[in-house]
Amino acid sequence: MSRIDEFLNGVRTVAIAGHVNPDGDCVGSCMATYLYLRDNFPEIEADVYLEHFKPEFRFIEGIGNVKSRLLDKDYDLLILLDISSKDRIGVAGSLTEKTGKILCFDHHVTNREQYTWLINDPQASSASEVVYRYMDPDKISEKCAEAIYMGIVHDTGVFQYSCTSPETMRIAAGLMEKGVPFNRIIDKTFYQKTSLQNQLLARTLMESIQLFGGKLIIGYLKNRDISFYGAVSTDMDGIVSQLRNTAGVEVAVFMYEKEPGVFKVSLRSSEKVDVSAIAQKFGGGGHVRAAGCVMQGSVYDVINNLTLYLERDLV
Ligand code: AMP
Ligand code: MN
Ligand code: MN
Repeated sequence: MSRIDEFLNGVRTVAIAGHVNPDGDCVGSCMATYLYLRDNFPEIEADVYLEHFKPEFRFIEGIGNVKSRLLDKDYDLLILLDISSKDRIGVAGSLTEKTGKILCFDHHVTNREQYTWLINDPQASSASEVVYRYMDPDKISEKCAEAIYMGIVHDTGVFQYSCTSPETMRIAAGLMEKGVPFNRIIDKTFYQKTSLQNQLLARTLMESIQLFGGKLIIGYLKNRDISFYGAVSTDMDGIVSQLRNTAGVEVAVFMYEKEPGVFKVSLRSSEKVDVSAIAQKFGGGGHVRAAGCVMQGSVYDVINNLTLYLERDLV
């Protein structure tokens, strides 16, 4: 098996970037890569680019150095993690045009981009698991292990989703042996909600609708509700999973209006439906059981457009 080392010949400066609205796996895999380079390749100068993330991720070592604006700087290598497609990179997106070498670690079935090196395993639980495989376990510090562990926990829903494999559990066990505070990471970054998050969740559940004999559940928050609560995108994390937990549901959809007439749509499937195929019809992507896209129109336009495709799988 190859190691990250093999991509670092002659490299002095590295930019590390994840996707817009960075989730636990995105932040975990980016920070783990940063910490691995910092600990083992001190001669390399690395910058991490990430947009706004949950304050609960602040315990990760080195996260205070993360850049949310692009520095006027050239890099020898760009490392991308968990991004799925180039148009989701956000602030560091323009680096794909001007950086000579790009290394991408991913686990999105819909990633079909061209890079110098694309290491994409759609069977892997998380980008954190993929990048872990390219690290020497003996060179992973406890702080780096915490970042990888957090990434795996978030993308597996605490080892619950079908993307969890025996290999995922073996990796998690190894990280646990390094002393990661696993219970604190799971509790504080995954399960714990602010009261605002709980209110948004409660309101969405109260107003959710079920179609196709209960096999499809749809929840939504409109722009005016989000403004009323003063909520930001990370406050809506996890709502779609709770919708999916409803008995009898095959597909859960959660959408929020990020600007008038523009919805961020999250799709989750229990067993049968390939939601990445549906998200791709609307210019998005993701995984078979978890995917997303952006759609235009009213709540009812979005529902009508989605049900056109979902009907085939659910009736
Ligand atoms: P989300 O519903 O935003 O949590 O996304 C679920 C999964 O789909 C994640 O793995 C995302 O990275 C992926 N995803 C979400 N939106 C998009 C998009 N517009 N294009 C490609 N992948 C996406
Ligand atoms: Mn992600
Ligand atoms: Mn991921």
